[in-house]
Amino acid sequence: MTHELTKEITTEIPTLYGSLVFNDKVMRNKLPKDMYKALRKTIENGTHLELDVANSVAVAMKEWAVENGATHFTHWFQPMTGFTAEKHDSFITPVGDGEVIMDFSGKELVKGEPDASSFPSGGLRATFEARGYTAWDPTSPAFIKDKTLYIPTAFCSYGGQALDKKTPLLRSMEALSNSAVKMLHLLGNTGVTRVSTTVGPEQEYFLVDKELYKKRKDLIFCGRTLFGAAAPKGQEMEDHYFGSIKSKVSAYMHDLDEELWKLGIPAKTKHNEVAPAQHELAPIFDTANVAVDHNQLTMEIMKKVADKHGLVCLLHEKPFEGINGSGKHNNWSMTTNEGVNLLDPGSTPAENIQFLVFLMAVIKAVDEYADLMRVSATSAGNDHRLGGNEAPPAIVSIFLGDELTAVLNSIENDTYFGKQEKIQLETGAHVLPHFFKDNTDRNRTSPFAFTGNKFEFRMLGSSASVSNPNMVLNTAVAEALDQFYKELEGTKPEDLEHAVHELVKRAIKKHKRVIFNGNGYTDEWVTEATARGLYNLPSTPDCLPRFIADKNVELFTKHHIFTKEEILSRYEILLENYVKTLGIEARTLEEMLTKDFLPAVSTYAGEVAASASSKRTFLPTLSTATEEALVTSLSNAYTSLTAGISELKALTASADSLEGMQAIADSYHKDVLTKMEELRLIANEAEALIPDSKLPYPTYDQLLFSL
Ligand code: ADP
Ligand code: MG
Repeated sequence: MTHELTKEITTEIPTLYGSLVFNDKVMRNKLPKDMYKALRKTIENGTHLELDVANSVAVAMKEWAVENGATHFTHWFQPMTGFTAEKHDSFITPVGDGEVIMDFSGKELVKGEPDASSFPSGGLRATFEARGYTAWDPTSPAFIKDKTLYIPTAFCSYGGQALDKKTPLLRSMEALSNSAVKMLHLLGNTGVTRVSTTVGPEQEYFLVDKELYKKRKDLIFCGRTLFGAAAPKGQEMEDHYFGSIKSKVSAYMHDLDEELWKLGIPAKTKHNEVAPAQHELAPIFDTANVAVDHNQLTMEIMKKVADKHGLVCLLHEKPFEGINGSGKHNNWSMTTNEGVNLLDPGSTPAENIQFLVFLMAVIKAVDEYADLMRVSATSAGNDHRLGGNEAPPAIVSIFLGDELTAVLNSIENDTYFGKQEKIQLETGAHVLPHFFKDNTDRNRTSPFAFTGNKFEFRMLGSSASVSNPNMVLNTAVAEALDQFYKELEGTKPEDLEHAVHELVKRAIKKHKRVIFNGNGYTDEWVTEATARGLYNLPSTPDCLPRFIADKNVELFTKHHIFTKEEILSRYEILLENYVKTLGIEARTLEEMLTKDFLPAVSTYAGEVAASASSKRTFLPTLSTATEEALVTSLSNAYTSLTAGISELKALTASADSLEGMQAIADSYHKDVLTKMEELRLIANEAEALIPDSKLPYPTYDQLLFSL
């Protein structure tokens, strides 16, 4: 019986998978042959799409969507808010006599014109030219959600300036492809016409009970607790990591998988994480822009499904003090249109040489643009993780593993890796071992680790779009490849091997400072990294100025990712987001302390005092020293918190009054956040003195251990 049941479910999944996606199979079935071919060409090679093809696709999409219960369509885009945006239009079109038909044209598919005035533009778009437009991204498949056909789009101003996170990513994929193809041709691999970046984001999250969540203003408004005494048990027993999954969580994960599969999101791995109530979900990797879209959708669906299960999914980077926060591991590589992973060492000498060039390009890129990599992972939330004693430090370095480091060392010193007899190649590449994941994935403390045939960028915060980090990586690697190309250009094929050897030798000498295979969580590393001249940019206001540094503006403009104006506007938006986030947190803390916590402190102190007083009346010889000490502690906390709240208000006001967003952000970081941390400590201590039943909100114990 059980056997049959399992069988039934597993045979259903292939049918279920992608059932809400306008995927290749649907396209093939629904489109005339020539139209299908034209669309595929656009998807694969990024060629321009003619209006007749768009019209044909629109008809097919609408037909399929209506068959699957859709009544509306929306251009789905990713403005600078960090969330996705959508405006729904129905398919209905009046045809006279009060009748309607369901209609959808190529023009509606290709371009939308949402009123853009309320999205952040960092001054790029004056309100009088408020209209932005959305443009269909045919490389990311359309899908159905909530009876609506979702069309993934890029969002631009009428001047063509990017107002979203997708446009720059698409531009960077193009840049990387061009540079990589040029390099491959130079290396003699002339069959390749396109290189795409592949991304697999591993997503961490917390689950808490919905009823408990609703009682905490900090979780509701900020996504994280602003204070709370630690539970007696944290993650010290390490019993949660990969532990057996509780039934309530398991039911959630099961439902989540199904919802994701319907949308063609290849959710693959799920497990418990290190902290109590923390979990992880990883999909199978995909092309970068599809992976970015899918990750946005995944985060949305995670929250939705949690709600159905009486849970809340917390995606904040640091919901709880004292236990791990949540990150997102961005696995990244490059694949040719022939399906070859360029970060796979391969098995032939030619593949080995190719691998070394691309590997070295990544090392050079990360060393030269480490500051941008740091910027790409920054947010107020992630500041609580980076540099803390639990997550990658705020310093960007590369973990290569011993074997690969030895290969590069041998090239640098002309000693040849392994000193094996059969070495024929000057590069030493002939003997490149195949790096198994088991060998290379041991270092969990590195922010950028080589894991066998890809790099894993671990600095990202759990709530962020993975768009920016990949955009930076693609662009920086494109630049490194271009510079290598210049060094190798004109080399005769018979001299190529020697030339590559010399190139790698020069490059490794120059960039080896960014390679670090040791424990990234130690203070020694921080000292050593400083000595090596690596950036250590612990907070968002610290690192954002690097975004607009000359060398970085030059990189982005050269590769047509951003204009200078677009960079400056994004810098403003990022600073503003930071300030707004901290502003909300400060106000929430004030309100929660004033309205929830302090009344509880005072009531409980009153009760203890009353009990001491009746004790004395009852029997004057009884000691009330304990009660007196407790009341004193509570009333001291009351006084300090009351004073602290006034100080916090004053500091916020003074930060707001400063000139310029950078100065305001600096002051929020230095003054407002520091004061909030001070209040947190006082509140934590006082809370530990009060019985749970006398607190108006659930404690860490309840939040973390009730499922
Ligand atoms: P872990 O890091 O937990 O050991 P894996 O290494 O198996 O897990 O995979 C992590 C993620 O890396 C998955 O999402 C996987 O699909 C993705 N991944 C694997 N190969 C590539 C690649 N070539 N490019 C991008 N992502 C990849
Ligand atoms: Mg991983």
